Amino acid sequence: MLDRALSILAPHYCSGCGKQGGLLCANCKYDIINDMQDGCIVCRAPSSRDGICQKCRTTYDRAWLVGPREGALQRLIGLYKFDRARDGCRALADLLDEALPLLPADAVVVPVPTVSSHIRQRGYDHTLLIARRFARRRGLRMMQPLTRITNTVQRHTTAAVRR
Ligand SMILES: [Zn+2]
Ligand SMILES: [Zn+2]
Repeated sequence: MLDRALSILAPHYCSGCGKQGGLLCANCKYDIINDMQDGCIVCRAPSSRDGICQKCRTTYDRAWLVGPREGALQRLIGLYKFDRARDGCRALADLLDEALPLLPADAVVVPVPTVSSHIRQRGYDHTLLIARRFARRRGLRMMQPLTRITNTVQRHTTAAVRR
């Protein structure tokens, strides 16, 4: 409601082409979906199965990728995470919905917990909003069984530090 009121006062512009209306117009959304590839999410090798190639080790077995963080996607995430564009959760949940296959009916959607100071700064928990929308769209359960044990900020850190 508040977001809607704010967006009437300060209309959103498409992260891809700048068209007034929403944070991602139908054309730019289509372009991102059209470019989706089944590559390794770590090294982007094209021939990987399950989203992770044999050379890259992760703590999970399967992964899906919407796209590299560049262009419209990078701007959209930037607006959503760092510029209080709360409405970005819609476009991002839409893109996840396109990227992920049909999941088992008993699958549970779990957002990665956000640093609490960031939630206070933004006024919303960005991963939670996306997870909630995505779960609702797919008719899946969403739960928050994970808690952060540190509040280390990951932005501008290396992959090794993040791990
Ligand atoms: Zn656009
Ligand atoms: Zn890889």
